Amino acid sequence: MTYRGRFAPSPTGPLHFGSLVAALAGWLDARACGGQWLLRIEDLDTPRNRPGAVDAICHTLERLGLCWDEAVRVQSLQHEAYRAALDALVAAGQAYPCSCTRTEVAAAALRTGIEGPVYPGTCRGGLAPGRSARAWRVRVDDRAIGFDDRIRGRITQHLETDVGDFVVHRADGIFAYQLAVVVDDAAQRVTDVVRGADLLDSTPRQLWLQRLLGLPVPRHAHLPLALNAQRQKLSKQTLAAAIDLQQDDDAVAWLRRALAFLGQPLPPIDAGRDELLAYATHHWSIARVPARDSIVEG
Ligand code: GLU
Repeated sequence: MTYRGRFAPSPTGPLHFGSLVAALAGWLDARACGGQWLLRIEDLDTPRNRPGAVDAICHTLERLGLCWDEAVRVQSLQHEAYRAALDALVAAGQAYPCSCTRTEVAAAALRTGIEGPVYPGTCRGGLAPGRSARAWRVRVDDRAIGFDDRIRGRITQHLETDVGDFVVHRADGIFAYQLAVVVDDAAQRVTDVVRGADLLDSTPRQLWLQRLLGLPVPRHAHLPLALNAQRQKLSKQTLAAAIDLQQDDDAVAWLRRALAFLGQPLPPIDAGRDELLAYATHHWSIARVPARDSIVEG
Protein backbone atom coordinates (compact mmCIF):
# COMPACT_ATOMS: atom_id res chain seq x y z
CA MET A 1 0.00 0.00 0.00
CA THR A 2 1.30 3.46 -0.82
CA TYR A 3 2.24 5.57 2.14
CA ARG A 4 -0.18 8.45 2.70
CA GLY A 5 0.51 10.88 5.51
CA ARG A 6 -1.16 14.11 6.51
CA PHE A 7 -0.64 17.36 8.36
CA ALA A 8 -3.79 18.57 10.09
CA PRO A 9 -3.35 22.02 11.60
CA SER A 10 -6.18 23.88 13.29
CA PRO A 11 -6.32 27.45 11.92
CA THR A 12 -6.13 29.02 15.37
CA GLY A 13 -3.11 31.14 14.45
CA PRO A 14 0.15 31.05 12.51
CA LEU A 15 2.46 28.01 12.59
CA HIS A 16 4.92 27.95 15.49
CA PHE A 17 7.95 25.76 16.14
CA GLY A 18 5.82 22.89 17.53
CA SER A 19 3.66 22.77 14.41
CA LEU A 20 6.75 23.07 12.19
CA VAL A 21 8.20 19.96 13.88
CA ALA A 22 5.00 18.02 13.12
CA ALA A 23 4.87 19.27 9.54
CA LEU A 24 8.53 18.57 8.82
CA ALA A 25 8.56 15.10 10.43
CA GLY A 26 5.38 14.12 8.58
CA TRP A 27 6.68 15.47 5.28
CA LEU A 28 10.04 13.72 5.64
CA ASP A 29 8.51 10.42 6.68
CA ALA A 30 6.18 10.53 3.67
CA ARG A 31 8.86 11.59 1.20
CA ALA A 32 11.42 9.09 2.53
CA CYS A 33 8.82 6.35 1.99
CA GLY A 34 8.06 7.61 -1.53
CA GLY A 35 4.57 8.46 -0.33
CA GLN A 36 2.08 11.28 -0.42
CA TRP A 37 1.61 14.02 2.15
CA LEU A 38 -1.79 15.63 2.48
CA LEU A 39 -2.97 18.82 4.10
CA ARG A 40 -6.16 19.04 6.13
CA ILE A 41 -7.50 22.15 7.80
CA GLU A 42 -9.15 21.27 11.11
CA ASP A 43 -11.50 24.22 11.45
CA LEU A 44 -14.51 22.57 13.11
CA ASP A 45 -14.05 24.35 16.41
CA THR A 46 -15.20 27.62 14.86
CA PRO A 47 -14.84 29.87 17.94
CA ARG A 48 -11.10 29.09 17.92
CA ASN A 49 -10.53 29.82 14.23
CA ARG A 50 -8.65 33.01 13.36
CA PRO A 51 -9.25 34.97 10.16
CA GLY A 52 -6.38 34.64 7.74
CA ALA A 53 -4.83 31.66 9.55
CA VAL A 54 -5.47 29.17 6.71
CA ASP A 55 -3.72 31.37 4.16
CA ALA A 56 -0.89 32.07 6.57
CA ILE A 57 -0.35 28.34 7.26
CA CYS A 58 -0.39 27.43 3.55
CA HIS A 59 1.95 30.29 2.71
CA THR A 60 4.41 29.32 5.46
CA LEU A 61 4.44 25.66 4.36
CA GLU A 62 5.14 26.75 0.79
CA ARG A 63 7.97 29.03 1.88
CA LEU A 64 9.44 26.16 3.89
CA GLY A 65 9.30 23.94 0.79
CA LEU A 66 6.87 21.54 2.48
CA CYS A 67 4.60 21.09 -0.49
CA TRP A 68 1.53 18.90 -0.17
CA ASP A 69 -0.24 16.58 -2.59
CA GLU A 70 -3.85 16.73 -3.74
CA ALA A 71 -6.52 19.27 -2.80
CA VAL A 72 -6.60 20.54 0.78
CA ARG A 73 -9.38 18.89 2.80
CA VAL A 74 -11.32 21.39 4.89
CA GLN A 75 -13.26 19.95 7.82
CA SER A 76 -15.98 22.60 7.81
CA LEU A 77 -17.00 21.34 4.36
CA GLN A 78 -17.41 17.72 5.50
CA HIS A 79 -20.42 17.90 7.82
CA GLU A 80 -22.34 15.30 5.83
CA ALA A 81 -19.57 12.75 6.26
CA TYR A 82 -19.47 13.30 10.04
CA ARG A 83 -23.28 13.18 10.22
CA ALA A 84 -23.27 9.84 8.35
CA ALA A 85 -20.71 8.41 10.77
CA LEU A 86 -22.73 9.59 13.78
CA ASP A 87 -25.92 8.14 12.26
CA ALA A 88 -24.14 4.80 11.76
CA LEU A 89 -23.04 4.75 15.41
CA VAL A 90 -26.56 5.61 16.56
CA ALA A 91 -28.15 3.01 14.28
CA ALA A 92 -25.81 0.36 15.70
CA GLY A 93 -26.74 1.37 19.26
CA GLN A 94 -23.18 2.54 19.89
CA ALA A 95 -23.92 6.25 20.37
CA TYR A 96 -26.60 7.75 22.57
CA PRO A 97 -27.86 11.22 23.54
CA CYS A 98 -26.68 12.72 26.80
CA SER A 99 -28.31 15.56 28.72
CA CYS A 100 -25.57 16.09 31.31
CA THR A 101 -23.83 19.41 31.71
CA ARG A 102 -20.12 19.55 32.51
CA THR A 103 -20.97 20.41 36.14
CA GLU A 104 -23.29 17.43 36.41
CA VAL A 105 -20.64 15.08 35.01
CA ALA A 106 -18.09 16.44 37.48
CA ALA A 107 -20.52 16.00 40.38
CA ALA A 108 -21.57 12.47 39.40
CA ALA A 109 -18.15 11.12 38.33
CA LEU A 110 -16.77 8.30 40.43
CA ARG A 111 -13.21 8.71 39.23
CA THR A 112 -10.81 11.07 37.53
CA GLY A 113 -9.34 9.86 34.27
CA ILE A 114 -6.69 11.15 31.91
CA GLU A 115 -8.73 14.22 30.96
CA GLY A 116 -10.67 14.93 34.13
CA PRO A 117 -13.88 13.39 35.48
CA VAL A 118 -14.80 10.07 33.87
CA TYR A 119 -18.38 10.14 32.62
CA PRO A 120 -20.25 7.68 34.86
CA GLY A 121 -22.77 6.58 32.23
CA THR A 122 -25.72 8.60 33.55
CA CYS A 123 -27.62 8.65 30.22
CA ARG A 124 -26.52 5.24 28.92
CA GLY A 125 -29.92 3.71 29.56
CA GLY A 126 -31.86 6.69 28.14
CA LEU A 127 -32.53 10.30 29.03
CA ALA A 128 -34.18 11.01 32.37
CA PRO A 129 -37.80 12.26 32.03
CA GLY A 130 -37.97 15.94 31.18
CA ARG A 131 -34.32 16.12 30.08
CA SER A 132 -33.27 16.72 26.50
CA ALA A 133 -30.21 15.71 24.49
CA ARG A 134 -27.24 18.06 24.61
CA ALA A 135 -24.40 15.95 23.28
CA TRP A 136 -24.00 12.48 21.76
CA ARG A 137 -21.65 10.00 23.37
CA VAL A 138 -20.19 6.75 22.15
CA ARG A 139 -20.15 3.68 24.39
CA VAL A 140 -16.83 2.19 25.39
CA ASP A 141 -16.14 -1.13 27.08
CA ASP A 142 -13.70 -2.49 29.64
CA ARG A 143 -11.26 -4.14 27.23
CA ALA A 144 -7.75 -2.75 26.93
CA ILE A 145 -7.08 -0.97 23.66
CA GLY A 146 -3.50 -0.62 22.50
CA PHE A 147 -1.22 0.12 19.59
CA ASP A 148 2.47 0.13 18.75
CA ASP A 149 3.66 3.68 18.32
CA ARG A 150 6.69 3.96 16.04
CA ILE A 151 8.40 6.33 18.48
CA ARG A 152 6.89 5.60 21.88
CA GLY A 153 6.43 1.83 21.65
CA ARG A 154 3.43 -0.01 23.06
CA ILE A 155 0.66 2.25 24.37
CA THR A 156 -2.37 0.80 26.15
CA GLN A 157 -5.47 2.39 27.61
CA HIS A 158 -8.66 1.18 29.25
CA LEU A 159 -11.25 3.52 27.81
CA GLU A 160 -13.84 2.67 30.42
CA THR A 161 -11.73 3.73 33.37
CA ASP A 162 -9.39 6.23 31.68
CA VAL A 163 -11.95 8.18 29.64
CA GLY A 164 -15.53 6.85 29.85
CA ASP A 165 -18.19 7.09 27.15
CA PHE A 166 -16.93 10.08 25.20
CA VAL A 167 -18.55 12.89 23.21
CA VAL A 168 -18.73 12.58 19.43
CA HIS A 169 -21.16 15.46 18.88
CA ARG A 170 -20.84 18.37 21.26
CA ALA A 171 -23.55 20.29 23.10
CA ASP A 172 -22.72 23.35 20.97
CA GLY A 173 -23.60 21.37 17.82
CA ILE A 174 -19.99 20.84 16.71
CA PHE A 175 -18.77 17.36 15.73
CA ALA A 176 -16.04 16.33 18.11
CA TYR A 177 -12.43 16.18 16.96
CA GLN A 178 -12.27 12.43 17.73
CA LEU A 179 -15.03 11.62 15.26
CA ALA A 180 -13.94 14.05 12.56
CA VAL A 181 -10.35 12.84 12.56
CA VAL A 182 -11.22 9.18 11.96
CA VAL A 183 -13.72 10.04 9.23
CA ASP A 184 -11.16 12.27 7.52
CA ASP A 185 -8.23 9.89 7.86
CA ALA A 186 -10.36 7.18 6.22
CA ALA A 187 -11.63 9.54 3.50
CA GLN A 188 -8.08 10.67 2.74
CA ARG A 189 -6.87 7.03 2.85
CA VAL A 190 -4.22 7.96 5.40
CA THR A 191 -1.88 5.07 6.21
CA ASP A 192 0.41 6.96 8.58
CA VAL A 193 -0.33 9.49 11.28
CA VAL A 194 2.69 11.52 12.40
CA ARG A 195 1.76 14.17 14.98
CA GLY A 196 2.60 15.63 18.37
CA ALA A 197 2.52 13.53 21.52
CA ASP A 198 -0.18 15.81 22.95
CA LEU A 199 -2.54 13.60 20.93
CA LEU A 200 -1.19 10.30 22.23
CA ASP A 201 -4.02 10.03 24.75
CA SER A 202 -6.59 10.56 22.01
CA THR A 203 -5.36 7.71 19.82
CA PRO A 204 -7.14 4.87 21.70
CA ARG A 205 -10.44 6.74 21.28
CA GLN A 206 -9.73 7.03 17.58
CA LEU A 207 -8.86 3.33 17.35
CA TRP A 208 -12.12 2.56 19.12
CA LEU A 209 -14.14 4.63 16.62
CA GLN A 210 -12.27 3.03 13.73
CA ARG A 211 -13.24 -0.36 15.09
CA LEU A 212 -16.91 0.59 15.55
CA LEU A 213 -17.13 2.22 12.12
CA GLY A 214 -15.16 -0.53 10.36
CA LEU A 215 -12.46 1.91 9.20
CA PRO A 216 -8.82 1.04 8.51
CA VAL A 217 -6.33 1.74 11.29
CA PRO A 218 -3.25 3.79 10.31
CA ARG A 219 0.21 3.42 11.86
CA HIS A 220 1.09 6.08 14.41
CA ALA A 221 4.20 8.03 15.33
CA HIS A 222 3.85 10.56 18.14
CA LEU A 223 6.56 13.19 18.12
CA PRO A 224 8.20 14.74 21.17
CA LEU A 225 6.71 18.06 22.19
CA ALA A 226 8.59 21.33 22.06
CA LEU A 227 8.20 22.96 25.48
CA ASN A 228 8.87 26.47 26.68
CA ALA A 229 11.01 27.24 29.74
CA GLN A 230 7.94 26.65 31.95
CA ARG A 231 7.64 23.15 30.41
CA GLN A 232 4.39 24.12 28.67
CA LYS A 233 3.71 22.85 25.16
CA LEU A 234 4.36 25.59 22.59
CA SER A 235 0.99 26.77 21.38
CA LYS A 236 -0.94 29.90 20.68
CA GLN A 237 -2.17 29.85 24.30
CA THR A 238 1.41 29.81 25.61
CA LEU A 239 2.29 32.65 23.21
CA ALA A 240 4.70 30.62 21.06
CA ALA A 241 6.46 32.76 18.47
CA ALA A 242 5.12 32.50 14.92
CA ILE A 243 7.39 31.07 12.24
CA ASP A 244 8.53 34.30 10.69
CA LEU A 245 10.00 33.99 7.20
CA GLN A 246 11.08 37.50 6.25
CA GLN A 247 14.18 36.48 4.34
CA ASP A 248 15.10 33.46 2.25
CA ASP A 249 17.60 32.31 4.88
CA ASP A 250 14.92 32.22 7.56
CA ALA A 251 13.33 29.06 6.13
CA VAL A 252 16.68 27.26 6.27
CA ALA A 253 17.29 28.40 9.85
CA TRP A 254 13.87 27.20 11.06
CA LEU A 255 14.22 23.90 9.21
CA ARG A 256 17.67 23.31 10.72
CA ARG A 257 16.29 23.92 14.21
CA ALA A 258 13.45 21.49 13.60
CA LEU A 259 15.79 18.84 12.18
CA ALA A 260 18.05 19.12 15.23
CA PHE A 261 15.02 18.84 17.51
CA LEU A 262 14.04 15.65 15.66
CA GLY A 263 17.50 14.13 16.26
CA GLN A 264 18.37 14.09 12.55
CA PRO A 265 21.79 14.80 11.04
CA LEU A 266 22.24 18.35 9.72
CA PRO A 267 23.27 19.07 6.15
CA PRO A 268 26.36 21.19 5.40
CA ILE A 269 25.97 24.73 6.74
CA ASP A 270 25.80 26.29 3.26
CA ALA A 271 22.97 24.04 2.04
CA GLY A 272 20.00 25.99 0.70
CA ARG A 273 16.41 25.06 1.44
CA ASP A 274 15.89 22.47 -1.29
CA GLU A 275 19.27 20.88 -0.73
CA LEU A 276 18.52 20.74 3.00
CA LEU A 277 15.19 19.01 2.39
CA ALA A 278 16.75 16.52 -0.03
CA TYR A 279 19.52 15.73 2.46
CA ALA A 280 17.05 15.39 5.32
CA THR A 281 14.81 13.08 3.28
CA HIS A 282 17.75 10.89 2.34
CA HIS A 283 18.96 10.65 5.95
CA TRP A 284 15.55 10.51 7.64
CA SER A 285 15.37 7.93 10.39
CA ILE A 286 12.37 7.84 12.70
CA ALA A 287 14.42 5.65 15.06
CA ARG A 288 16.53 8.73 15.82
CA VAL A 289 13.55 10.85 16.88
CA PRO A 290 13.70 11.16 20.67
CA ALA A 291 10.71 9.89 22.62
CA ARG A 292 11.17 12.59 25.27
CA ASP A 293 9.76 16.11 25.08
CA SER A 294 12.32 18.88 25.33
CA ILE A 295 12.63 22.56 26.06
CA VAL A 296 13.45 24.84 23.15
CA GLU A 297 14.71 28.39 23.20
CA GLY A 298 12.47 31.32 22.50
N1 GLU B 1 -5.70 19.63 14.52
C1 GLU B 1 -4.86 19.04 15.51
C2 GLU B 1 -3.90 20.10 16.02
O1 GLU B 1 -3.71 21.11 15.37
C3 GLU B 1 -4.05 17.87 14.97
C4 GLU B 1 -4.90 16.67 14.81
C5 GLU B 1 -4.16 15.41 14.34
O2 GLU B 1 -3.04 15.48 13.83
O3 GLU B 1 -4.79 14.36 14.47
O4 GLU B 1 -3.36 19.94 17.09
